[in-house]
Amino acid sequence: MALPVAHVATAIGFTKTRDLRVVGLLALVAISPDFDFFLVWCLDLSIALYHRTFSHSILFALSVAVLYRLLLPGYQHRFSAGLVLLALLSHSLVDMICTADAADHGVMLFWPFSEIRLGWPLVVPLYARFSESPFSAQGAFRFTMLEIVLAPIYWGSAAVLGAPLRKFRFFQPSSQDEVGQ
Ligand SMILES: [Zn+2]
Repeated sequence: MALPVAHVATAIGFTKTRDLRVVGLLALVAISPDFDFFLVWCLDLSIALYHRTFSHSILFALSVAVLYRLLLPGYQHRFSAGLVLLALLSHSLVDMICTADAADHGVMLFWPFSEIRLGWPLVVPLYARFSESPFSAQGAFRFTMLEIVLAPIYWGSAAVLGAPLRKFRFFQPSSQDEVGQ
């Protein structure tokens, strides 16, 4: 299971900005799919059934990106809707490669059209060497330390994948002139 360091490092890899406000917001967007935990806890639902469902889907990522574009036009010169989309989709992708048992706690990427849980445990053996689970203070600490070491790999992978995408206007911040129109 990926923790915030992996999600944030990946999302930041998609941008070249040095504006700390943008980096902070991007970090928040990158971890926001896991806010479904709060919903699950507040409504006393089963984590196994409801975590990594709607908030980890392509539809959710697209909806948030479109809403952001429509509701916050004044922010587009700092932070494109495309970057929101990439941060959210990358969260699901990172979760998928950190999922030990896809059938049990994989990602419902195609919710609500399909409730199949997806996951490919590419980096799980590495995480498993450090702890069996992040659901303990020691496990969370060990996973976080591992992710700090792995952060350049997560960041670099996103930077390589994001380089061709940054050429498209959808992924670029708007110019100040466009915002003022
Ligand atoms: Zn997640």
